[in-house]
Amino acid sequence: MDTALERFTLPRNELAIMHPSGKLVCVACAHRCKLADGARGVCLVRGRSGDALTVPWGYSAGVAIDPIEKKPFFHLLPGARALSFGMLGCDLHCAYCQNWFTSQALRDPRAGRDVEPVSPETMVAAAVARHCDVITSTYNEPLITAEWAHDVFVQARAAGLVTSFVSNGHATPEVLDYLAPVTDAYKVDLKSFSAKTYTALGGKLQAVLDTITGLWTRGIWVEVVTLIVPGLNDAPGELRGIASFLAGVSPDIPWHVTAFHPDYKMTGPPATPTGTLLGAARIGHDAGLRFVYAGNLPGRVGDLEDTRCPGCGATLVRRSGFTVHEARVTAEGACPACGAAIPGRWKTSAQGTGHRAQ
Ligand code: SF4
Ligand code: SF4
Repeated sequence: MDTALERFTLPRNELAIMHPSGKLVCVACAHRCKLADGARGVCLVRGRSGDALTVPWGYSAGVAIDPIEKKPFFHLLPGARALSFGMLGCDLHCAYCQNWFTSQALRDPRAGRDVEPVSPETMVAAAVARHCDVITSTYNEPLITAEWAHDVFVQARAAGLVTSFVSNGHATPEVLDYLAPVTDAYKVDLKSFSAKTYTALGGKLQAVLDTITGLWTRGIWVEVVTLIVPGLNDAPGELRGIASFLAGVSPDIPWHVTAFHPDYKMTGPPATPTGTLLGAARIGHDAGLRFVYAGNLPGRVGDLEDTRCPGCGATLVRRSGFTVHEARVTAEGACPACGAAIPGRWKTSAQGTGHRAQ
């Protein structure tokens, strides 16, 4: 481990299971690394020292205030300010990572490693002082720094903030159980419907599918993003697989299909054509999803940036890019025109997302 980061670790065993072999199993992500004393996991940021995991805690590798639409969450307090914080590292290694400067910090010598010490209390005080309604664990993969996010979220909930995770979803039931009591909303990147593609990215498709189901059944508000990469995951059959799976969990799960642009080590495929994105959105609607959005091409995708009432068709939230021009969902989560229930979280005054799985 980077010696500069060693001082920002704590022994914590909420996400550890002792294996009969004497190895300590980390269950923060679906790799489930079995660690001998002194070993590090696939993510390189977690390891074992004696009978405890050593986990990242108490630093920031980036803090910013973003519109909630940038995460993206479209059914969570439209127009809210989200204080977004990140650490270093990821359990996957996607060639097109847009956050590689932090996510690949321990693998790629070109990436950054600048960190600042911070406490959960300071982070939450900054969010409140800057009039944020939401606090978000993002930039790196937050599952591998789950204890830190958990401790920040405990303070954030006490201060009346909504808490959210922006994640690859490569989780375990154990880490979802750990996070569920303090997490309001969770964005999952469902990158492909091919197990082979997930293997190339360094993860397991089934684990991500299980996370989406697990989040929904635990009553956490979930939105799913698929970055459409030409040649990688844009085949109609694969997109139909994703859309049908999501509709099977719940047709109320928002699905964001977003446009790729060449980044990091993936410079071969062209940027996603508008027509491909519109076709993916059509597949989502045809599969029965009630809320499908097209992202990263503001102003070029018709009304696919807006939220429309599935009951009467009224425009409820009008957006362009990350800007909300109009938001008409009532505080109780209903269409003002026909009264249909609109799933999501639309007001700040109470804990909970307004969604509870059936
Ligand atoms: S977070 Fe994942 S990759 Fe890292 S040690 Fe734990 S199981 Fe392994
Ligand atoms: S999972 Fe996300 S943060 Fe990690 S490498 Fe892939 S795109 Fe980057």
